[in-house]
Amino acid sequence: MRNKHLFRGFDFFENVDLKNYSTMKTGGRAKYIVFPRSKRELVKVLKICHGQGMRFYVVGNGSNILFDDSGFDGVLVNLKHFNDIKISGESAFIGAGMNLFYLNLYLQKNNLSGLEWSYGVPATLGGFVVCNGGCFGHEICEFVEEVTVLKDLQILTLKRDEIEFSYRHSSLKDSCVVLEVKLRLRLDNADVIKAKMLSTLEEKRRLQPCDLPSLGSVFKRVITKEEIVYPAKLIDNMGLKGVKIGGAEVSKKHAGFVVNTGGATSEDVQKLVQFLENKLANLGVFPEREIVVLKNECSKK
Ligand SMILES: Cc1cc2nc3c(=O)[nH]c(=O)nc-3n(C[C@H](O)[C@H](O)[C@H](O)COP(=O)(O)OP(=O)(O)OC[C@H]3O[C@@H](n4cnc5c(N)ncnc54)[C@H](O)[C@@H]3O)c2cc1C
Repeated sequence: MRNKHLFRGFDFFENVDLKNYSTMKTGGRAKYIVFPRSKRELVKVLKICHGQGMRFYVVGNGSNILFDDSGFDGVLVNLKHFNDIKISGESAFIGAGMNLFYLNLYLQKNNLSGLEWSYGVPATLGGFVVCNGGCFGHEICEFVEEVTVLKDLQILTLKRDEIEFSYRHSSLKDSCVVLEVKLRLRLDNADVIKAKMLSTLEEKRRLQPCDLPSLGSVFKRVITKEEIVYPAKLIDNMGLKGVKIGGAEVSKKHAGFVVNTGGATSEDVQKLVQFLENKLANLGVFPEREIVVLKNECSKK
């Protein structure tokens, strides 16, 4: 067996069920998932992949990734061990694998304000920065000072103005592995911060189907010079909430979300997304997808 001991000594699993690595809870099996414990290990993993001609793909919390039902015949790299936080005044250096729930709790305990609006988003900081995630009028790029990345096997620290950020996009996407992010925050009272976090969570629970697996908003807003078009609003106006294909459903609570009502496949989700795209196209609206579809056969990075 060619790859029998390929990742011996690393934290890894073989033949993993992708349902456990996407918040949509769909997908087949991946050949490997590796959790490097350090930058050195990460470099080694990538060298092994290059050496073996194996595809690799970096995943955060999988809250934006739809995996293929046929799985992923390569190596997923997950930075969950990159979860250090160092605070220096009103700045914080945070490992890319840190999830936003813990990060918010940690910052609150340390009287650091800024990210409360992101409390409740099931993302890692790395994934959120790469996608320039945002909500309630904020985007993460407002807080980014520096990002340390691995690019072409070199570690580089990029200043904020060396990175292009736009609505739900950054130049980091598919071009490097984000290792650490330096955020600019500000000192505030811990009780005030907590109150803001809780009100964010309440608002998210009120507006979004947080009780069912999903990938958040399926489509990006369409921003033209004249107007901003919200696909969710149009989907709602067309009466498409609750439309189902297999186990995938247009959320009855928020028309921008497709949820897994139980036993959905990624194909169900894809078909439903395509159905919505056709309906929107009939109105002359062609939104970009916010979700990432990881096809089994394509090579990335
Ligand atoms: C219930 C729910 C609510 C949501 N609410 C919001 C919201 O309010 N606002 C919002 O913007 N999004 C929201 N989302 C979508 C999702 O959380 C974001 O897109 C988030 O940025 C994805 O982060 P992740 O860590 O899960 O990344 P993943 O989904 O794992 O990956 C997303 C992309 O980032 C890349 N990536 C991840 N980590 C790294 C890294 N370290 N280096 C390089 N590339 C990396 C992946 O390769 C992939 O292309 C929501 C999703 C859910 C399920």
